[in-house]
Order: sequence, then C-alpha cells, then structure tokens
Amino acid sequence: MSQSTEETTHFVRQGFASLNEHPDISVLIVGGGINGIGLLRELALQGIDVLLIDKSDFCSGTSAAMTRVIHGGLRYLENAELRLVRESLHERNMLLGNAPHYVKPLPTTIPIFSWTSGIIPAIRNLLGWPAKPGDRGAILIKTGLTLYDMLAGWKSPLPKHKFRLRHAALSLRPALNPGVICTATYYDARITYPERLCLELVQDAEASFSKARALNYVSLQRATGKTVVLRDELSRETCEVRPKIVVNATGAWIDLTNRELGHKSDFIGGTKGSHIVLDHPELAKATGDDMIYFVNRDGRICIFYTVGGKIIAGATDIPTKDPEAVCDEAEVDYIIEAMRQVFPSLRVDKSNVVYRFCGVRPLPRSNALTPGQVSRDHSFPVITPDNGIDFPVYSLVGGKWTTFRALSWQVADEILKVLGRPCVCDSANLSIGGGKNYPPEMSEYKDFSDERVKALIERYGTGAKDVAAYMKSGPDSLLINNNRYSRREIEFIARNERVIHLDDLILRRTLMGMLGEVSLALLEELASIISPVLQWSQKEKEAEVERTVRLLQRVHGVILAK
Ligand SMILES: Cc1cc2nc3c(=O)[nH]c(=O)nc-3n(C[C@H](O)[C@H](O)[C@H](O)COP(=O)(O)OP(=O)(O)OC[C@H]3O[C@@H](n4cnc5c(N)ncnc54)[C@H](O)[C@@H]3O)c2cc1C
Repeated sequence: MSQSTEETTHFVRQGFASLNEHPDISVLIVGGGINGIGLLRELALQGIDVLLIDKSDFCSGTSAAMTRVIHGGLRYLENAELRLVRESLHERNMLLGNAPHYVKPLPTTIPIFSWTSGIIPAIRNLLGWPAKPGDRGAILIKTGLTLYDMLAGWKSPLPKHKFRLRHAALSLRPALNPGVICTATYYDARITYPERLCLELVQDAEASFSKARALNYVSLQRATGKTVVLRDELSRETCEVRPKIVVNATGAWIDLTNRELGHKSDFIGGTKGSHIVLDHPELAKATGDDMIYFVNRDGRICIFYTVGGKIIAGATDIPTKDPEAVCDEAEVDYIIEAMRQVFPSLRVDKSNVVYRFCGVRPLPRSNALTPGQVSRDHSFPVITPDNGIDFPVYSLVGGKWTTFRALSWQVADEILKVLGRPCVCDSANLSIGGGKNYPPEMSEYKDFSDERVKALIERYGTGAKDVAAYMKSGPDSLLINNNRYSRREIEFIARNERVIHLDDLILRRTLMGMLGEVSLALLEELASIISPVLQWSQKEKEAEVERTVRLLQRVHGVILAK
C-alpha cells in the first residue's frame, strides 16, 4: 500500500522542476495505479500532452494488492453481468498476446461438493431478487463454465473447461478433501509482475510521445480557478500547472481527491481485500500448477495458487472507508480457515505466513446485500466546472485490473472529443514493454547460464537484453543475501526504473518482499548498491533501511530480526 515519505530529502528531480516552465497541459491525471497509467499510455499514443502524478510509487495502491489474475470474472455471471464478462475475457485474451512475458495461462480448479446446490439463489439473482450466495453445485458450475467458454469467443487462445469425477480428482490431488464429488478445471491467466507491467506502460507512454510524462512521489495539493498545485514529496517543493481537463484516477481515494480539487463527491463504497503469502512446500506440491478456486462456508469465493514456490491465498471483501487499510489478524485467520476446507489433512497455520497485503477496491457506492454482489464494472462520472474550478474532472470509478485498456480507451475517446482531436492509434494489438518481439532468442545471451537467462527473461521479457548488456559491461557478482539477483542487475533497476525509495525496489521492481525473501542484511546490501546511483548520503541510506523495516512490519506483517 501507499506510504508517506517523511524521512529522506533526496535529490531534486529534473522532471518536477521543468513543470514550472511549461504549466499549460491538456490533461492532468492524478493517480498512477493501473487505470491512471493505462489512460496515460492511451493519450500519449494519440499525441495528447499529458502529465500523470502519483503521491507514492507507481502501482503502489490497490493495483499492487490484486490477486494477480487476469480474468473474465466467472463469478460475475451470477449477477448476469454478461457484458462485463465478455469485455474482461476479450481484454484477457489481448493481454495474453500483448504482454506474454508477464501474462500466462492459469489453469483453475474448482473442488465441487454437491450436484445441485446454489441453483435457487442463482435464479433469484438473475431475476434481480436479492439472494445471498452459498455453495455452488456441479450443475450450476457446468452451466457457468459453458457460458464462460462461449463468451471467451472462438478465438480464445486458452483451452475449454473440463470436469474430473471424484476418483480422477483424488488420484491427481490425493490431499483434496475426500468429500469432493468432482472438480472442474477452466483457464484464466496469471500476471507475474503487475507492478512491472505498470512501469513498462509508463515507459512506453513516454517513449511514444515527448509531451507525455509521469512522475511518482508527486501529490495533488489543491486547485483554484484554472490552477492545480502539485507537491514533490521528496523536495517538498510545490509548483502550479494549468490543465484543460483533470482525470481523478486515485481509486479508493477518489472522493478525498475530489475534495482537494474543490468538489464534494460520494462515488466510492470501498471494500478491503487481503491476501496472505505462505511458505509451505507440502501445500505448494498439493496445489500444483493450478489455482484452486473454491466457495468458503460464508458463500465467498476464495483462491490460492503458487507463485515462485510460495502460496498466495485470499481474498477478503470487507466494507471500509480507509483507503490505506491493512490486513488484520482476523483476516489472516479467515483465509487460513478457508484453505483448510480444501486440503484438510495438511497442517496450515500462522507460522507459515511470510507476507500479507491488502488493497481497497474502488467500487461504486451500492446497496447490494453483500460486498461480492457489487458490480465490478467501471464508469467515469464527470464533474463539470463549478465552485470556482474552471476545468472538468473525470473520476475513474470501479473497474478491474484486467479491463484497464478498455476503460482507458473509453475515457480517452471522450477526452479526444472534448479536445477536438482525432483518434490516431489503436492500442488493441500493441505489445507492451518486454512483450515486444517476444519470445527472445536464447542465443542472444551467450555469456550467461541457461538458468540465469531464463530468470532474466521471466523478469524483463525482451528487455532482458538491455539488462544483460549492462551486467556484462562491468565486474558483477551475485548478491550475498539473495543469489537470484546480481549487483549490476540491481544497479540497472535503480538507474532505469524510477526507483526513489528502497521499498520501491523490494516491493515493486522485484518480488523479494512478496516472496518473503527480505532480511535486514539484504536491505543493507541493496541500500549500499543503490545509494551511489540515487545519491543518498550515509544518513539517508540508513533512513531508507529503517523506513523499509517499519513499512514491512506495519503494512505487511513482516518482522525482521536485528
Ligand atoms: C484484494 C483485491 C484483489 C483484486 N484482484 C484482482 C484481480 O486478480 N484481477 C483484476 O483484474 N482486478 C483485481 N482487483 C481489482 C483491481 O486491483 C483494481 O480495480 C485496480 O487496481 C484499481 O486501480 P486504480 O488505478 O483505479 O487504483 P489504485 O491502484 O489504487 O491507484 C490509485 C493511485 O492514486 C494515488 N493517489 C491517491 N491520492 C493521491 C493524490 N492526492 N495525489 C496523487 N496521487 C494520489 C495512490 O497513491 C494510488 O497509487 C483486485 C482488487 C483487490 C482489492
């Protein structure tokens, strides 16, 4: 989740200082989560001068707290949201092609414990009569998956669903709850590095048009007339810009941001969602390559699957007004208890948890019976100039990570009309970042072992070539405290990937934090490598380590031994 930037001063960034020289911009996007960044790229491709700011790092809000699944949303069929599911499946299929380095097929298995459950609540839901969801039986799931495959279209790159009867299901997964009557397996996609994909979208946007810029650690302060005041969270300096249009892409913060922009709004009815990461080799083995998707006793869908040898499990769905909510003990207990229903013979407890994370869904305010029934569709209500503010404000409400391009395109289309500009580019089939010219030739990396090349390609796609070239151009060695990265690889990230704080590196440029690989010694080693690049003094370096230790404890439940 987002953090404040109290301790360190750092260097003054050129990007921020230059805003004073060119204060007039067509579009200001406030919020660098996936929705703001998606729109930045879309507008840059159309040749619109646009500035994006985020008060924290890119993709550090809800966009970093996702289940890391690019999906159609099987569950939304229960709310008869066919349009949303079709759009999401279309976007999923496009992302599998446009970002193949990070978006990969994910077989998803549902353990089923009855034939007929859930039919009556499903019919009530379809008729628009409120009904609390409960267990879903085989007939209902078969109907849903058949429809899901149909909505994915005949061009879908993923296989269709299949069922396994009890004997076959238990032979494949002997630890599965023996009460199972069958399992169903269908396909969606996993995203291995959502935070890096956001960064690549920023880099692509800036590369495609010189007047498209994005700055992390710059916040919106206030607005009057034609002017918006921004603050550099590093130097504490402020500057003024004069946008024709402002897009409020601050997710769970949308209503707070509108207030800073001089308007009162009540768009968001957020719910917090938490995940835990477990180190449990036996559970990872029992889970295999599939995501396990199951119904908890309270009717909520829960999931778990393996990432880098660990297990991600979640998620909760609890109404909250706090955009910076964190995962609490009761949520950890809830998720562990839910997992025990799937593999009851495996011992899972809190001692297996190495990391936790939480985000607040920027859902539209709603009177639905349960949070799960609130639509995950997006909208972008416009506040017209009023209250002494001379520009319109578009708020990006709701939406899924998966559908960022669809939302971005719809908003960009509207903005082009307002600015009287033509549409000159279609992003539908545009590769993103290291997804360009993918897969790369292994022979391009002669100086590295196969294992190392595989790791680099997994992390950077075809961008691995630049990383490898940098690694080769000077003396290099593996990190003492994490032998999957080298010193020059870390240096490359610090030089080229907009790292400002140490936690940007361990939480968003790499998976070290999420996979529970961080120790105090590793933090000190990383800080020593990046401090010359980021011009940190000894005092700033120590403050960065301390800040990260505190953040890991407060937000992610990680306590580092001294
Ligand atoms: C638990 C959970 C699981 C999910 N799983 C999935 C999934 O698997 N697949 C999927 O498709 N979707 C998933 N989603 C939904 C998806 O993650 C969100 O809909 C999406 O990330 C919202 O992105 P956003 O850009 O609107 O908001 P955010 O990512 O929250 O971005 C808003 C940004 O605004 C910035 N900001 C706030 N105030 C200011 C200010 N004053 N000045 C400057 N910047 C500011 C914040 O720092 C933040 O970075 C999940 C959501 C949750 C909570």
